[in-house]
Amino acid sequence: MIEGKEMVGVMLEKTIQKTVACSGVGLHTGKQIQLRLIPAEKGQGIVFVRKDLGGIHIPASADHVLPSNFATVLEAKGATVQTVEHLLAAVSALEIDNLLIELDGPEVPALDGSAFPFVSLLQKAGWIEQNKKRAFIEILKPVTVSENGKSVSIYPGSAFEVACHIDFDHPLIAKQSYRYWHSRSAFIGELSSARTFGFLKDYTSLKAKGLALGGSLDNTIVVGTDEILNENGLRYSDEFVRHKVLDLIGDFVMLGKPVLGRIEAHCSGHNLHAQLVKTIVENKKAWRIVDRPVDDSASMLCQPPYQVALQLTA
Ligand SMILES: [Zn+2]
Repeated sequence: MIEGKEMVGVMLEKTIQKTVACSGVGLHTGKQIQLRLIPAEKGQGIVFVRKDLGGIHIPASADHVLPSNFATVLEAKGATVQTVEHLLAAVSALEIDNLLIELDGPEVPALDGSAFPFVSLLQKAGWIEQNKKRAFIEILKPVTVSENGKSVSIYPGSAFEVACHIDFDHPLIAKQSYRYWHSRSAFIGELSSARTFGFLKDYTSLKAKGLALGGSLDNTIVVGTDEILNENGLRYSDEFVRHKVLDLIGDFVMLGKPVLGRIEAHCSGHNLHAQLVKTIVENKKAWRIVDRPVDDSASMLCQPPYQVALQLTA
């Protein structure tokens, strides 16, 4: 009973209400993958399950991240799962704490290259509160990692915020900045539909390295010398930087708990995000665990800006 009283008025952990599934091609492997999102017990966290490898569990946490700059890759017991960041961004932004993500191959399907199809899938699954306080990591001191003029830092803050700056040597992208204040509706409306992107000039060399084998105009913004090759162009004039914020949110899931702090990213990528998460985890004086009062204002059912056709499989 004491535990019950303590939980009144504070945010609780959540999982999804029912199992949902979809299928699609992996961006890098080109493999057709079936994905199922399955409710999980309180305290379990976000865990990938390689069904095709006898059900090996791969937790979405900092100590399971492998170095990679093209996509975020997790590993456990010799099994890997790659390109997890867009799905994890949706899971985290919709505030799902406990989830099993079952796959029959080594990569999360790319779908349309954004997080939006995963938002739709999670909305279809619904969510339920669980009998455990939702713990947050509150940042108390700044932490920075940097490499070759690129950097990402986190500062104390009462909510989750991201300021992201990119600078590409290409006239169609060049310098872009975006400031994001987290709420479910902000994520769905501002970020979830922003797609991954690649340069046409890199396509042949990526394929030679065994990357982008499933890449197409259906799941990637393809940037040519002086034009966007996708028939309908961009979804936002600053879609590139919005996608970078989305990637960063996905990579921060590896912290294991939602974070209260302000992130400032300058041209950072997956490797630098993983380094910052690991540095935060190791630097225990830079944060503390707190809970938060219930937030009734956020609706999970706000309308997205794009409609997607999901290949639902169950
Ligand atoms: Zn991405």
